[in-house]
Amino acid sequence: MYPELSSHQGSHAVVIGGSIAGLVTGRVLTKYFDRVTIIERDYLPENPVPRKGVPQSHHVHALLMRGAMILEELFPGLHTELSAAGASQIDMAKDVAWLNPAGWGIRFTSGVMLFASSRSLLEWGVRQRLMQCPQVCFITKSEVTSLLANSDRSAITGVQVRLHNQLDPKSVSEQQIFADLVVDASGRTSKTPQWLTALGYEPPQETIVNSHVGYASRIYQPPVNFSSDWQALYLQAAPPNVTRGGLMLPIEGVRWLVSLGGGDKDYPPTDEAGFLEFTRSLRSSLLYDAIKHAKPLSPIYSYRATENRRRHYEKLHRMPEGLIVTGDAACAFNPVYGQGMTTAAIAAETLDQCLKKGLSGLGKRFQTQLAQVNVVPWTLATSEDYRYRGTEGKSPGQKTQLMHWYMDRVMLLSTKSVEVRSQFLQVMHMLKTPNALFHPKIIALVFKEVLQSTLPQATLTTKAT
Ligand SMILES: Cc1cc2nc3c(=O)[nH]c(=O)nc-3n(C[C@H](O)[C@H](O)[C@H](O)COP(=O)(O)OP(=O)(O)OC[C@H]3O[C@@H](n4cnc5c(N)ncnc54)[C@H](O)[C@@H]3O)c2cc1C
Repeated sequence: MYPELSSHQGSHAVVIGGSIAGLVTGRVLTKYFDRVTIIERDYLPENPVPRKGVPQSHHVHALLMRGAMILEELFPGLHTELSAAGASQIDMAKDVAWLNPAGWGIRFTSGVMLFASSRSLLEWGVRQRLMQCPQVCFITKSEVTSLLANSDRSAITGVQVRLHNQLDPKSVSEQQIFADLVVDASGRTSKTPQWLTALGYEPPQETIVNSHVGYASRIYQPPVNFSSDWQALYLQAAPPNVTRGGLMLPIEGVRWLVSLGGGDKDYPPTDEAGFLEFTRSLRSSLLYDAIKHAKPLSPIYSYRATENRRRHYEKLHRMPEGLIVTGDAACAFNPVYGQGMTTAAIAAETLDQCLKKGLSGLGKRFQTQLAQVNVVPWTLATSEDYRYRGTEGKSPGQKTQLMHWYMDRVMLLSTKSVEVRSQFLQVMHMLKTPNALFHPKIIALVFKEVLQSTLPQATLTTKAT
């Protein structure tokens, strides 16, 4: 089912963290290593249910088309398996009613597809497939506590692991696991900066841009006989004046997952009445009307650690051999833009390219290339976040302000031009680079729009229904 080793690079690779980044990286490593061990702090459930180590799985997770394509390439047949389990693929312009800051996006068949399921189902589906790889072994209920290095500390040689007995959680043992390559895919709370410091290395610099967005989410059963001309709904915030947004995605089991988001610390409440009232205050009544008679199927979960956080491993003067850092551990985004899982998948592709050149100097090579591929999603997320009044982080320059001006026009055109919206959706789903939005044809449409009308401020702030 899986290809032979691409070009043998070592006998054993260890991945810290068995979430999306760890799983896709693990799959790529099977092409180069005899054995791949995924070490995960959580017990990994047999069914697609949320788990403690991935608290974000209670919230809407939209898989962008580029990410879905990479996953299908890594795990052929995955889409079919997930669809059989209730996931759906929905057209971004035909099936999603999207109120952008300038108005409702024009509806048409775009061919840009969003993969809609719960985050737990997606992760579970990918994990089941990786478990079928004969070289892969999962060690669960086990936490990596430090990195092991050779005598002159020039190379990482493995990890120190604390193993919890599944039957008796108080019973703990320690183990050293040796490897030719260690991959940190342990997410936002990665300890690699501290572990490197303990080995005498400088930690990476961090860039943080925080618009203080909070989430609150709940699963609903749609009302009987509910009918609409959309399958998913996105009421986008329009900062700085409108800090609130809401999103509804169909998930397996014919259910709706509703996530509310508020920037500038306008956090959505987690009590029943507050959640509904927040929904009612959004820029359109569509979401409130849909859920007011729907049956809640879950508690309301909240999440607030949404800052954009980039750890600059590519700038380290010295990096030990045998170590790389990927996924949210290297670069995490404000999740509102739905980029995290797709960039983790792109990072796995990048690693594949880097491994073809061997293990020597892999860390520097990979982190440098990863930093380059992360520039686009980082710029997209942070420049949008700078629209909030209270965003913390390096202040936006004139380039960002110019970008806001241009994107405001692109958003307005997305309400009436199929061509502009189509380009925008392809850029958003990482199928094209942002250059597509600066194609002479699009620039001409933007300037025609500028000449014909000035963008009314009211369009950006008034409540649409
Ligand atoms: C509210 C919210 C909504 C989001 N929505 C989207 C979306 O719509 N689309 C999208 O693409 N992305 C979204 N994301 C981002 C997405 O969740 C992540 O980018 C994605 O999960 C990849 O993360 P990761 O695998 O790097 O880390 P994580 O998913 O955080 O996983 C890290 C794993 O490492 C394990 N671990 C941690 N420390 C250790 C240790 N010391 N030893 C062993 N194991 C350890 C954890 O238990 C966990 O399993 C969202 C994020 C949030 C917070």
